[in-house]
Amino acid sequence: MSAVPLGMPSFPDAAREATRNPTLRRNLRHATHTIRDRRAAAVAELDDWAELRAAGAAIKDRTLRHLDTYLEQAEAAVVAAGGHVHWAADAAEANRIVTDLVRATGETEVVKVKSMATQEIGLNEALAEAGITAYETDLAELIVQLGDDRPSHILVPAIHRNRTEIRDIFRDAMGEWGIPAPDGMSDDPRELAEAARLHLREKFLRAKVGVSGANFLVAETGTLVVVESEGNGRMCLTLPETLISVVGIEKVVPTWRDLEVFLQLLPRSSTAERMNPYTSTWTGVTDGDGPRAFHLVLLDNGRTSILADEVGRQTLRCIRCSACLNVCPVYERAGGHAYGSVYPGPIGAILTPQLRGTGSAVDASLPYASTLCGACYDVCPVAIDIPEVLVHLREKVTAQRGHVIERSALRAAAWAMRDPKRYTALQRAAAAGTRALHPRRLPLPGWGKAWTDTRDLPAVPKESFRTWWQRRDTSGGTK
Ligand code: SF4
Repeated sequence: MSAVPLGMPSFPDAAREATRNPTLRRNLRHATHTIRDRRAAAVAELDDWAELRAAGAAIKDRTLRHLDTYLEQAEAAVVAAGGHVHWAADAAEANRIVTDLVRATGETEVVKVKSMATQEIGLNEALAEAGITAYETDLAELIVQLGDDRPSHILVPAIHRNRTEIRDIFRDAMGEWGIPAPDGMSDDPRELAEAARLHLREKFLRAKVGVSGANFLVAETGTLVVVESEGNGRMCLTLPETLISVVGIEKVVPTWRDLEVFLQLLPRSSTAERMNPYTSTWTGVTDGDGPRAFHLVLLDNGRTSILADEVGRQTLRCIRCSACLNVCPVYERAGGHAYGSVYPGPIGAILTPQLRGTGSAVDASLPYASTLCGACYDVCPVAIDIPEVLVHLREKVTAQRGHVIERSALRAAAWAMRDPKRYTALQRAAAAGTRALHPRRLPLPGWGKAWTDTRDLPAVPKESFRTWWQRRDTSGGTK
């Protein structure tokens, strides 16, 4: 995965900043509540949602168990259909492969379909360093790119922006990237959409190279699948002469029958639609139809390490629907930027530390960016037990830090408890001698401070249970 953004603070610090922004909180609350309500209604229409969900989880688990077999099957099918397959172990290798492929065409521009995998590896930045401009064509991604911003939601990357802010971004930045926004454009959604349409159309008609990700890769035929709402993705997939798709290795599904399950789960969970407006599929190259060269870059970038972890591997079931973000009370208040990754919300809290490790302040704090309320698990269409993975990752972070304070306290407690007389004496001394000095908060740094800032230490009782027990009156009262 690409590196942690420079100077990225830990999640609590970033979230504290974000929660002070009332506009951001208002935008997020409105958007997440709207999407979550619609999703609940769309899911409630299906009597067999629970069965579909279980089927989705089972298909993913089976595929992950035999991932090598299905990936090789997919590779053979893509090659047989006239495509080329490249394997990328990490972000740097994937970026190098794509950059070389674009350079080989002689082009200096590409149009992009919305893709989490290319954001994960920082492809746009890598291409820019090589003198190649990547144009985002998904409307929300366009807003993020023109605003020199970072995405804050998987499905709606500009969810933190309201339409007045979007109008200002279009007015100020569209001209620098191509066709400018029309004079006098208001913040009416139709006018904003029309401005984006005019701006993007020129890019679609000019581009010779398209770059995409994929929602699924069907192993039996080597077919890639992108589901979307706008149709911009389809323009990028069909008009350019060369198409390069960067796809995480966990996106493979064995058969079209398996795909059918996910094409029911994904739209209802993400956009609350019974069926998404555009489902584009492509298999290699076809004479006279679409791109004449097709390259598939299969991306590992930490996924095989996740696969090796018995608890963590369920993370790879994720179909990036974003339902867990929309129900998360922490995401709703902190927003996506606080997660310091292209994957925000509950899925980001478990995926990013597994992809990137927990070496940085933000990555080590992500498993704690949750109340463990379980709402994310309830809505997840592939039944990822996000709280279970969060707790698992917390254990890892704690073990990694050695948690000096906790260990010292437990060692002291063990020493005291080994001898009943010592234990009783210490207990009496603690009750009698320290009651007056007993602080309500502990002056600890870092995690200790965060823990005690939000909790009061309980008052020490006047006498211990043991003392009371010894002086009790066995007839019923006290002596
Ligand atoms: S973890 Fe589940 S709910 Fe969250 S984005 Fe992935 S599939 Fe959707």
